[in-house]
This record gives sequence, structure tokens and C-alpha cells, in this order.
Amino acid sequence: MKISTDVVIVGTGLAGLSLAKYLSEINPKTSILLLSKTTLDECNTYYAQGGIAVVHDFIKDSYEQHIADTIAAGKGLCDEEVVKHVITSAPARLQELLSWGVELDKNDSGALDLGLEGGHSQNRIVHHKDQTGWELETKLIQVVQNLPNVSIQTSFFATDLVVEHEKCVGIIGYNSENESVFINAKATVLATGGSGQVFSTTSNSSVATGDGIAMALRAKVKIENMQYVQFHPTAVYEPENEQAFLITEAIRGFGAHILNRKRERFLQKVHPDTELATRDIVSKAICDEMHKENSDNVWLDLSHLNPKELRLKFPKITNYCKQKNWDFTIDLIPIRPAAHYQCGGITVDQFGATSMNNLFAIGECSHTGLHGSNRLASNSLLEAVVYSHDLAGRLSILLKSAVFRFSIEPEITYQEIGRNDVGFFRSELKNIMNYDSVYGSDEVIFESTKAVLLLAKQFENKFPNYSENPHLCETYNLIQTAVLILSQKAIDVTLISNTSSSINQPYIIL
Ligand SMILES: Cc1cc2nc3c(=O)[nH]c(=O)nc-3n(C[C@H](O)[C@H](O)[C@H](O)COP(=O)(O)OP(=O)(O)OC[C@H]3O[C@@H](n4cnc5c(N)ncnc54)[C@H](O)[C@@H]3O)c2cc1C
Repeated sequence: MKISTDVVIVGTGLAGLSLAKYLSEINPKTSILLLSKTTLDECNTYYAQGGIAVVHDFIKDSYEQHIADTIAAGKGLCDEEVVKHVITSAPARLQELLSWGVELDKNDSGALDLGLEGGHSQNRIVHHKDQTGWELETKLIQVVQNLPNVSIQTSFFATDLVVEHEKCVGIIGYNSENESVFINAKATVLATGGSGQVFSTTSNSSVATGDGIAMALRAKVKIENMQYVQFHPTAVYEPENEQAFLITEAIRGFGAHILNRKRERFLQKVHPDTELATRDIVSKAICDEMHKENSDNVWLDLSHLNPKELRLKFPKITNYCKQKNWDFTIDLIPIRPAAHYQCGGITVDQFGATSMNNLFAIGECSHTGLHGSNRLASNSLLEAVVYSHDLAGRLSILLKSAVFRFSIEPEITYQEIGRNDVGFFRSELKNIMNYDSVYGSDEVIFESTKAVLLLAKQFENKFPNYSENPHLCETYNLIQTAVLILSQKAIDVTLISNTSSSINQPYIIL
């Protein structure tokens, strides 16, 4: 089956939805097809808690301070022009979100309530309680569903980019009936989100399996900095859960403490900002402490905080405690770091253009240069909306002269597969991928890299045609993303000079 559309957007998180809205505002006649892998709202955006970093109080705060905080968190690897652009665009993008009906919390004087998070020198996080992502996602879905030029397909699995003469002419995938569909587009946009599901413990949605990264990799599109995986220090430790429940760092901004097995705070010994140091510092300190005391978790202590205010400001977290029968005024909450954010991704320019003609990437799957090696908290929703705004402007120009191109209609053939076979590869991958495989000793990094390369080989031998089933393709995407993360890490710490994982994808950016 073939569908033609001006723009196909793979992903219905904040990046994809806001791009559809901005594009429709510029030209309501642009035909746009939005795709999501499962339901419309299942994505990382939905789970975002803390909020969006925006300089709003220009008396206490300034762009310069937000820029300096972002660059300090990114450890000198941020692109300063990108940082300046994103941060100074924030107030305008915030106004647009508000004009689309997004509701954000206000303080007693009626101004936007500004939260504090790790690495920020000022209170500047605008939020909707501790459910900012839910508010953004549900409001934007309503907005986009009312746009006559936008069609939406859910349960659509995009398998690969379709490329002709080094130009992207669309994507191929399976619709909800498992029919092969070629979507021929003048412009193709990947807004496929992150890859936390590669790891044993993650805060990410089940859809965050690195699909956009793997599609780009197979099409030889430039990807960088995948080794910079951000671990969030305070995910609830419940090993049986595929997606760990996250406790926003806004709660540490509100005064929560982290305790070791002896019920002692230990972050004072590590950094002057204690629990509010940046995520990389707090995550490392927790993992070091767990190694030292040979424990599986540390503890979050809310018992000294005002329970009424906690319930009011953090309803999602206090309800979660209630569900678990944890009385947060007495009980400590078990926590440990979880893979949370992919700082690297598909390399894009200031408008979201990738290294391939007619292919664009926005949101968590892209690498803009904003985050460096460590994202500053609450800068990613901001990045998604700034780049979708800027890409809409760029696409509106491109579409004026673009024409549909393709000569050979690609096809893929659906086959049933045994779930258990794929299950083995998924659980093996999760056994390999954890905090230590990326940030541990050189020996652990090297062993993990070898193990993941071997797993890729085994997979390719057993399933030479990964594209014949969405579940198979998703498993391969997870493995290829892991190969990329660990190869780039191993190259960084000069454990290997070059690597190539497979028959299908010898392309790894050094
Ligand atoms: C628990 C949690 C809390 C967070 N809190 C914050 C916060 O407070 N502030 C902040 O700035 N950031 C936060 N983040 C990060 C932020 O939420 C994400 O970076 C951002 O939402 C990513 O948006 P996105 O649109 O790029 O991707 P997503 O919202 O993840 O959307 C990805 C979309 O791609 C689709 N997709 C993927 N693969 C395919 C495929 N093969 N075929 C078809 N569709 C596909 C999915 O179905 C989905 O619709 C948080 C993340 C998590 C997990």
C-alpha cells in the first residue's frame, strides 16, 4: 500500500505534535501524516514531571545565567550558539504553548510558579504540578486532532527510511493490520524520542527503543554523542518493573534528602550543591555509595517536609506512595539511578536538518548541540518545542518547491515470529546494559562492548531479515542502539580504535 503526503512525522510526543501545529499555522493546506507506534499518548513526553526551563523572572534571573548553567552541566561539549538560541527563544515558545491551552501552575500573586531543579542557579521551571508532560501531551493531542490537514495513524511501526539517490523519499512500515505501507513524502521527520529501553533500569516509556536512531544508522545518516546517556538519580527501585517510576528532582529542589543504608546523607561529601548537584554527579555518587555498602538502592527521605504542601505540589508522587502503602511522612522510598535521557542522537543543524536530504529530526532522537555530555534538567521539552517551531519555518519554504520522488516502490513482507526467541535477545541485552557498562571501569566497558557486539552477530545470524516483523525490528533497533552507545564509549576511552557490528550496519561514527 502507498500513501503520499507533504510531510510524514514519525512520533506523536511533544516534538511531533508541536511541529504539526506550527506547520499548520503557517500553511493550513500542508498535508501532514503523524504516526505513533502504539497509542497516541504513549511516549516519554507523557511521563515528564518537572517541567520546562524558561527564564521568566527577569529581575532575579537572566538568559546569561540559564546559558551558563546549561554549559556548565554539558561539561564544555555544548554548542554555545545553539544554547543561546534555544534559551532566548524560550519565552516566545512558552507563550505559544499557553495560547494552545496548556495550563501551568501559578503562585499566590497570579504569576507563573517557578520551580528549582538540579544544576539551575535560579528558580525557572514552569510546570503543571508534577504532571507537566501529561498536560502538554493531552492538550496538544486535542489541538492536533482538530486540524483538518493532519491525519494520524496509531499502532503504526515505522521500520526504515526509504532513500533514493541519497534523498529520503519517505518511510516504510507496518500499519495496525500488519500491512506493509510505503509513505511517500516530500519531507520526512523523525520525532521518535529516546532509547532508555536499551537499559536494565529506565524511566522511559516502553516505546523508547531507539527506532529513529537505528533507522538513521541503517541509512548512513550522521549520528553523534550516543555515549552520553543521562541517568536520573531518583527512580523508584522496583526491579520487576520495565519502566521505573521517576521521582522528579523538583522534590529535591523542595528539600528532599538522599540517605545511604546507615540513613545518613552522603552528598555533602561529594559536591557543595549536595542533592541538587547535576544529575551525572548525583547518579555517580549514588552508584559509588551502593558499591561501597554493597546495596541495590539508596533512600529518598521526605519525612521532614510539609506533607500538605508535598501532596499539593507533587500529587503524582504522593499518590504513587499511597498505592505502594508507603507513608512518606515516616517511610523512606527506595531509589537508584535509571537510564533517563539520550543526550546524543541524529546530528541536525539549527533547523533540524540531518545529513541526508529531505530528512529531518527533532526532539530526543536528535543531537542539536544543546546538551553536551549531560543535559540540564528540563531543557529537553524546551529543545523539542524550539526546534519544531524552527523546522516548521524551514519546511514551509522547502515545500513550496518540493516534488514527490520515487522510482521503485519498496515492500516488506510480514511474518509471524516466536516471541520467546526475541525475548531471549531482549533480556540478554538488559543483562549487559546498566550504569556500569557506560560509566564503570574500562574493563567493564570493554567487556560490555564485546558482549553487545556478539549479541548483534547472534541476532543477525538467527534473523537475517529483521524487517519482517515489528517486534523483531524493534529488538534489532535496541541492539543496534546499544552497539552504538558502547562503541562510541569504548572509542572515547580508547579501548578500541574502530568497530563494525554487522553485515547490515557497518556504520559507526567515530
Ligand atoms: C519520566 C520522565 C520524566 C521527564 N521529565 C522531564 C521534564 O520534567 N522536563 C524535560 O524537559 N524533560 C523531561 N523528560 C524528557 C522529555 O520528556 C523527553 O525528552 C521528551 O518528551 C521527548 O519528546 P519527543 O517528542 O522527542 O519523544 P517522545 O515524547 O518520547 O515521543 C516519541 C514518539 O515516537 C513514536 N515512535 C517511536 N518509534 C516509532 C516507530 N518505529 N514507528 C512509529 N512511531 C514511533 C512513539 O510512538 C512516540 O509517539 C522526562 C522523561 C521521562 C521519561
